[in-house]
Amino acid sequence: MTDEKQKQEQADEEMINQGFQKLLDTYLATKHRKKVEIITKAFNFAKQAHKGVKRRSGEPYIMHPIAVAQIACEEIGLGSTSICAALLHDVVEDTDYTVEDIENLFGPKIAQIVDGLTKISGGIFGDRASAQAENFKKLLLTMNDDIRVILIKIADRLHNMRTLGSMLPNKQYKIAGETLYIYAPLANRLGLNKIKTELEDLSFKYEHPEEYARIEAMLKETKEEREELFNDFTAPIREKLDKKGIKYRILARIKSPYSIWNKMQTKHIPFEEIYDILAVRIIFEPTDPEMELNECFGIYVSISKIYKPHPDRLRDWVNHPKSNGYQALHVTLMSNKGQWIEVQIRSERMNDIAEQGFAAHWKYKDGNNHEDEGELEKWLRTIKEILDDPQPDAMDFLDTIKLNLFASEIFVFTPKGEIKTMPQNSTALDFAFSIHTFLGSHCIGAKVNHKLVPLSHKLQSGDQVEILTSKSQRVQPSWINFASTAKAKAKIHAILKREQRGMQQAGEDKLQAFLSQENLEWNDDNIHKLCVLHNFKTPEELYSAIGFKTIILGEEDINELKKEKASANNWKKFIIPFAFGGKSNKEKQQEENDKEPAQKIDSKKILRLTPEGIQKNYLIADCCKPIPGDDALGFINDKNQIIIHKRQCKVAAKLKSGFGNRLLAVQWETGKALDFPVNIYIKGIDAMGILHKVSDIVTEQLNVNIRKIFIETVDGIFEGHIQLYVHNVEDVKVIIKNLQKIEEMKVVTRVEKFEDRP
Ligand code: MN
Repeated sequence: MTDEKQKQEQADEEMINQGFQKLLDTYLATKHRKKVEIITKAFNFAKQAHKGVKRRSGEPYIMHPIAVAQIACEEIGLGSTSICAALLHDVVEDTDYTVEDIENLFGPKIAQIVDGLTKISGGIFGDRASAQAENFKKLLLTMNDDIRVILIKIADRLHNMRTLGSMLPNKQYKIAGETLYIYAPLANRLGLNKIKTELEDLSFKYEHPEEYARIEAMLKETKEEREELFNDFTAPIREKLDKKGIKYRILARIKSPYSIWNKMQTKHIPFEEIYDILAVRIIFEPTDPEMELNECFGIYVSISKIYKPHPDRLRDWVNHPKSNGYQALHVTLMSNKGQWIEVQIRSERMNDIAEQGFAAHWKYKDGNNHEDEGELEKWLRTIKEILDDPQPDAMDFLDTIKLNLFASEIFVFTPKGEIKTMPQNSTALDFAFSIHTFLGSHCIGAKVNHKLVPLSHKLQSGDQVEILTSKSQRVQPSWINFASTAKAKAKIHAILKREQRGMQQAGEDKLQAFLSQENLEWNDDNIHKLCVLHNFKTPEELYSAIGFKTIILGEEDINELKKEKASANNWKKFIIPFAFGGKSNKEKQQEENDKEPAQKIDSKKILRLTPEGIQKNYLIADCCKPIPGDDALGFINDKNQIIIHKRQCKVAAKLKSGFGNRLLAVQWETGKALDFPVNIYIKGIDAMGILHKVSDIVTEQLNVNIRKIFIETVDGIFEGHIQLYVHNVEDVKVIIKNLQKIEEMKVVTRVEKFEDRP
């Protein structure tokens, strides 16, 4: 070995160890359980497996897996399992080791992820990818059920993009194009905003190097101007927030070169006409996690006292997070230089989620008190399109989350290899109808992956489906049960209805002939008797049953029609159990005894609604949502629970007439101990800063928490709903009175429902 070579090897060795040490340091600084041993084992194994192999850049190959693991840990926030899988991600593909080897050494979980990563790079993202990339992307997502596979693949791609310079140009275009088409949207979907932006910019840089350079130069040229604008604009904001004692930081958000370019392209405007290059981000630390939301609006109120807000550019992603979990309050304010500037208000937590996506939730989970669990659950629900498990196991958050980005869809192939998108739970019959009505209506079965299956067979992603038909086949009423798509159901209904209409007519004719033959009259009374006899709700049902020959008219019918009066027994089933009459006193008594609550409640006494009682024993009715001070009543339901309704509630009105013995008089005795949500509807003439006036009165003057707010302006009229937490009706009256003082306000009223755009 030459000196030169030895020196090189030593340098490489040092670089490798430094890289790994940095990874370990990053990992140890996280809140994850510290599993240094297995990570070190994975590193040593990968290093040995890739030994002697270099990347195009000349670096030892192992530097790549280390970098991928670094991204997974530092930028995505993943834990030891993912770090190990990242370190091992190219071992199976590029060396002689197999998935079994990985499993023996590192267990099934890590092996599964490595296996998933190997499959992706070999198969789906090979040469076949281009033709139906969009569908392959989805297919990939439904076939891998561990989200870490995708996250590590994104980390892998990010590192490859960062080091793309050493690749040949044609390779660069391919990788850059694929990144923009597949990985950037994926990262976006998962809420990995920062990575998404970097992937886009890198792709743009390699795909359009000149334009990228041009935009970079222009950004540089205008930098000073922007900085000045930023400083001028934020100075009074800082002053105000400082005075309020808010812990915050203000950042300038500069639009990414790719976004700028994209806007120039889609809007056909030059660089100079892009006015939203600078946005201002206020990131604050809430005094109390519970107050986070309220403080967001508080900051909004404060800064809109300094600058006029654009009336219809308030974006409330706080109450209505985006599907990838993004939360923030966006407002657009008029700067003193006459320029609209967008201000994004978010808490540190929201900011983490905006940049790191769902992985950021790790941080907020480790607090391990109930509030955090609740918060986590709430957040998970907001991204239910992405993840379908609303209650992750406390042990390992990621393990319980099945990748379900497109859970509502599956992807199946026709015999010719075409991909069809179907809703989840689709059956072979649904598939048949989705291709052609004839195929559906004459379907007798199917071959799924060359195996014969019935019409009702549920399809899985990746299935190949061939529909078998027969000309003599007809649509059967029972098919409704096998169809799950709206399309198939509608078709089946339509075909059945068409057939039924014919049969109904035939049945009606037959009945008419039957009656005249027996010298019986065709009248409502007789038709009704036959309906009762055969258990049909409508004459139409009776006719079609006769038409389809499911009933044959005969002796029994004649006897029934010739009877003087319908027997009480036959009528009984048409009587609603708790309606008036129809029951003997004895029966009634029995029913009351049965339903008498086990827990002794004296219905003669007035039930005192104490704070403890409301929290533990009684339910507040969802239909009318009474609050203290409302005229209310209690109702004991079948489960022996007491439900509190408003007295004028429509549901309560029904209960009053049907279950009088289960009602209780109630009296509010909550004082100011509890907060109740209440909805207020407002309407008026739109004016600059109306939202600000409203939130100012509610939050600043009355010191009431706004839970949700939605205001929409159409043709100069604003209309909206506010949801607040109050103690009682008195509070509501005060709020309404104060809101009415706003000059432009024309209607302020309490309503039962909070409404906003779906
Ligand atoms: Mn790789």
